Amino acid sequence: MDLHLEHVTLVYPDGESTLTAVDDVSLTVPSGTTTALLGPSGSGKSSLLAVAGGLTPPTSGSVTLGDGEPLFTTTTTRDVATRARLDRIGFVFQQPQLIASLTALEQLELLSHLRGKRPSAAREHALSVLDAVGLGPWAHKRPGTLSGGQRQRVAIARALAGSPDVLLVDEPTSALDHERGTEIIELITSLARELGAATLLVSHDESTLDAVDRREQLVDGRLVETSPRTSPGTSPGTGEAA
Ligand code: ADP
Ligand code: MG
Repeated sequence: MDLHLEHVTLVYPDGESTLTAVDDVSLTVPSGTTTALLGPSGSGKSSLLAVAGGLTPPTSGSVTLGDGEPLFTTTTTRDVATRARLDRIGFVFQQPQLIASLTALEQLELLSHLRGKRPSAAREHALSVLDAVGLGPWAHKRPGTLSGGQRQRVAIARALAGSPDVLLVDEPTSALDHERGTEIIELITSLARELGAATLLVSHDESTLDAVDRREQLVDGRLVETSPRTSPGTSPGTGEAA
């Protein structure tokens, strides 16, 4: 399902005054595609993801899915938002945020349990998702014995295991080298396409983003530019400027 942000504004209290972290952002991410969100530090990228994923209610505006159903609005309660996150949203953060005592498989099973899935079906599905991110042989390893790239793959598998409509990814490659980072972005975009997840991916490393479908730029909380991806095979010089 397509993800729509409609006139989303997020204002934080800031001492006596306020700080507008996200300023009237409207954006559609079509189902199965990945949009990269670029912008300087402090431009509101993480704040926008927090609203898109129902971690923070917008000050004004709304988040809806393709069927027009409002997902997160100014009046969405915490309980409703929590349930919607569990059922419809996958998050991947800068650090994988895995639980040290659980194996890769158990990280995924924990969420299936919270979703009320049958344990045997959940295990089979979790194993297939770990396979899809290339971690089949590591399913029974704990995070401490995995590399940084493998840990981030577990986090991606965990985010996708619930077949979310929306995948939100915040700087997933900042702890990885260029090659690992590029692989992770390629993996995310291809899984998003396969699973039909509308994916919004924050990055400040443009050099890893060849695989994404679209790029958007935030400055001071505002969307300033939309540039379509350069199609493979077009002549050099037709792409967007760096
Ligand atoms: P980015 O992810 O692009 O670096 P953020 O969304 O983290 O930007 O921050 C945008 C602005 O909002 C910054 O000025 C930041 O200091 C401020 N900000 C972020 N989170 C909070 C918060 N919880 N409370 C108050 N201000 C915040
Ligand atoms: Mg951020």
